[in-house]
Amino acid sequence: MKTPNKIKLANTPTPIFEFNISDDIKDNTALYIKRDDYTGVELSGNKVRKLEFSIAEGLESEADVFITCGGIQSNHCRATASAAASLGKASHLLLRGDSVCDQGDGNLFLDKLFGAQISYITAEEYKNDRANIMKEIKAEYEKNGLKAYIIPEGASNGIGSFGYFDAYKEILEQESVLGIEFNMICVTEGSGGTYAGLYMANEVLQGNKKIVGFNIYDGEADVKSGIIEIINEACEIADYKEPINFDSINIINDYAGEGYGISGPEVFEYIKYLAKRTGIVFDPVYTGKMLFGLNKEIKNNDYFKGNILFIHTGGIFGVFPQKEMF
Ligand SMILES: *Cc1c(COP(=O)(O)O)cnc(C)c1O
Repeated sequence: MKTPNKIKLANTPTPIFEFNISDDIKDNTALYIKRDDYTGVELSGNKVRKLEFSIAEGLESEADVFITCGGIQSNHCRATASAAASLGKASHLLLRGDSVCDQGDGNLFLDKLFGAQISYITAEEYKNDRANIMKEIKAEYEKNGLKAYIIPEGASNGIGSFGYFDAYKEILEQESVLGIEFNMICVTEGSGGTYAGLYMANEVLQGNKKIVGFNIYDGEADVKSGIIEIINEACEIADYKEPINFDSINIINDYAGEGYGISGPEVFEYIKYLAKRTGIVFDPVYTGKMLFGLNKEIKNNDYFKGNILFIHTGGIFGVFPQKEMF
């Protein structure tokens, strides 16, 4: 298997700690947290691991501008804007302008500080036409003699997913240092690249762990086919010819609620509880929504037992635009 080139952007390896979220956790179960929110301050979260590969490919193509897209409070767009600035490159963000909350706060504010060019589009345009719009923006830059490189939503494609293939290898190394074997890894599932990278690594390296994704995007979405597509693309890049078994893909749709970025009062209460109990901040879009679900699953579902590793994928800047909801 050949792994693609990457550049160093993230502050890794990220530490793993015990994570005590409840007084009445089952006897046969221990929960751990991997702090991928420590990958950087401005770069905080999971996106930078994927960007290490995407941006490396962009630099190889001599890009001057990195074009990408996301929600108005996209963590991925903010990480891309910061990474581009740190490399002396430009960024152009296509943002879906449908936020329910203060749009000038959080990630969007930081995007502007990093000097990103921003184009706003409607939810409808985003859903149906974002790939074409990014191509048009790229063509505009090229008319002006600048090379541009397009990163898809969340950097969730074949190349980006190697970020979490590598993170999986990092976890294996940490297991031997810590003397703990994790039988399950739980992550938030959004655009799918994080899950896809972990799943592919687990299959290729035969790590024999359960990889569980909590969908926070859309309870009805066919998440699995998107994940398979990303993994197939990654296999092609890696020239990996062995068949991958997709039967163990496990996505829980029960906690997506009303959709992306929308959480009920129970999630906000749970984030407050966790902040007081653990001193760690979780966000209402991704990790807080997911942990509300993971806690329930651990309590009620015997599938969730043993040494469970939860990956904190970041999102702290997504807390501020929703502060009134707390
Ligand atoms: C993007 C994101 C995720 C989801 O990762 P995907 O690779 O898009 O599935 C989870 N948590 C946070 C904080 C994110 O920003």
